[in-house]
Amino acid sequence: MTGNGTRVGVLALQGAFAEHLKALNRLKLSGIEVRRAADLEGLSGLIIPGGESTAIGRLLAEMGLREPILRRVAEGMAVMGTCAGMILLAGETSDYPLEPLGLMDITVRRNAFGRQVDSFETPVAIAALGAMPFPAVFIRAPCIEKVGTAVEALGRLNDGRLVAARQGKLLALAFHPELTRDTRCHGLFVEML
Ligand code: GLN
Repeated sequence: MTGNGTRVGVLALQGAFAEHLKALNRLKLSGIEVRRAADLEGLSGLIIPGGESTAIGRLLAEMGLREPILRRVAEGMAVMGTCAGMILLAGETSDYPLEPLGLMDITVRRNAFGRQVDSFETPVAIAALGAMPFPAVFIRAPCIEKVGTAVEALGRLNDGRLVAARQGKLLALAFHPELTRDTRCHGLFVEML
């Protein structure tokens, strides 16, 4: 909760949720851990962290969170999905055995960088964040293969692969912005609320 009542939740079922809460703290926001449907009430935004997209997907269904998330988004809640979280946001996926939430008109390829390149850090130019490229950490990362007309491409790797996109109040990032000190991605998300 902040002074102006902005409530941001972080899905805390599996993965890097603690690091997202710390990133929000650096922006003077205290995030709310979301584990049950009731935790979603009153949130302006929700962060779906990186981790293991199959584990997060299964737990979402088990905890009865799928429908409540879709309902809250229809009511105007913003969502930022990072890495595994981006897979969950997708309308279509390659290499993902479960049904994603289908919130964004994007096709996401899981483990797009192959097993030989497990993780890497590289600067990504994202005009929406300003002139300085973002130090993006990729860990067994997905990428966006296809976007619909409502989707704004925000950032690409040098080889042209799309790794950041926005559709209305939905923000998809293939990398882990919570693992660097740079809070601009979280700042952009908070501005979208
Ligand atoms: N490869 C993971 C998956 O498919 C995502 C990795 C991550 O979130 N860092 O779930």
